[in-house]
Amino acid sequence: MNKKIMAINSGSSSLKFQLFQMPEEELLVKGLFERIGLEEEMIFSYSINDMKVKTVVKGKTHEAAIDFLLQFLLEKKIMGSLQELSGVGHRVAHGGEKFKHSSLIDMTALQQIKDLAKLAPLHNPVNAIGIEAFQKDLPDCPQIAVFDTSFHQTMAPKNYVYPLPYRFYEEDSIRRYGFHGTSHQFVATEAAKELGKPLESLKIISCHLGNGASICGVKEGKSVITSMGFTPLAGLMMGTRCGDIDPSIIPFLQYEKNLSASEVEVILNNESGFKGVTGFSSDTRDIMSQAEIGNEKAQLALDMFTSRVKQTIGAYAAELGGVDVLIFTAGIGENSAEIREMICENLAFLGIQIDQEENQKNNKKISSSESAVQVLVVETNEELMIARDTFNLITI
Ligand code: AMP
Repeated sequence: MNKKIMAINSGSSSLKFQLFQMPEEELLVKGLFERIGLEEEMIFSYSINDMKVKTVVKGKTHEAAIDFLLQFLLEKKIMGSLQELSGVGHRVAHGGEKFKHSSLIDMTALQQIKDLAKLAPLHNPVNAIGIEAFQKDLPDCPQIAVFDTSFHQTMAPKNYVYPLPYRFYEEDSIRRYGFHGTSHQFVATEAAKELGKPLESLKIISCHLGNGASICGVKEGKSVITSMGFTPLAGLMMGTRCGDIDPSIIPFLQYEKNLSASEVEVILNNESGFKGVTGFSSDTRDIMSQAEIGNEKAQLALDMFTSRVKQTIGAYAAELGGVDVLIFTAGIGENSAEIREMICENLAFLGIQIDQEENQKNNKKISSSESAVQVLVVETNEELMIARDTFNLITI
């Protein structure tokens, strides 16, 4: 039976939404509220049938954005009544070890999501606010939580326990969780469809390279290893995040520079990565144009990033015992032929060879005919994955 499903992705000052007709996966409307809480008004942009509109909306909370959104759906006659909404799926950053799958949100689950704020203080509280705002306006509509961490709950202990005193895992839940799970799962599923093969038969390395970046090794349809860790700060170098560094640097900075723990945290999260190395931007587009005109730090940052991605691909191929499919996704992975080329250079020994022309065209399949590994560019769509999980959970 046809159902309208809303997918919600709330950030600290933003709220993204997409409304789908399921199971056809037809996108009815999508949009974004930005600058929530910064002033008395927020910016609302939406697109329906390729028509894009940007406007200003009164209000300064996520609740106000959701109230406005529901009225907007009625006014634009996207829905005749709010009862037509069969389910709302929410992206939730952290599901800890409690949530191994997407879940229907009852009072207990909502409390657990709030309790997990200890592990994701910037994200889980706003995710909970989004859920509560929908519960207030639509008390009878099922709400589903889709966790960024749950796809990675299939990792074996050898890949998630840190070599720290074991009590920190037992007492404080300090372990690798991994993030971007919804995206890795989505692109792995799409890649298998594209190749016409069962997902379970493929060894996949999925590279989600955007402002945040992570890599995931997928075997038998399950996440085996991923590069983000206890928090999304770990792993690859990113737009403003440092990724893996020698942990001794942290106390060293505190002692030598007389910095507090929270000051170091800000440096590692917001002032490092591409931004930190180049000193001028976190955006690879700016960095590539500067590298082209001889900016050495821009070139260094690109070399560092692509080298780290390459090293991780090699490590994950070893962990998986080979690789059948290499996926590039997210802002950089989907759009930058140059960066994909830098990453794949000299990987022929692993069976990875790309076709320059197909790569330049951002084609879906960019591996050459000699390549043993299928190299694919797959557009990620976390909201569609959220809608799929929501639809599946409300129809069982
Ligand atoms: P995301 O976080 O997935 O939205 O990715 C955002 C990032 O993708 C931006 O910060 C850019 O660095 C990068 N990006 C987007 N388009 C391009 C492009 N054509 N070339 C290089 N990088 C791009």
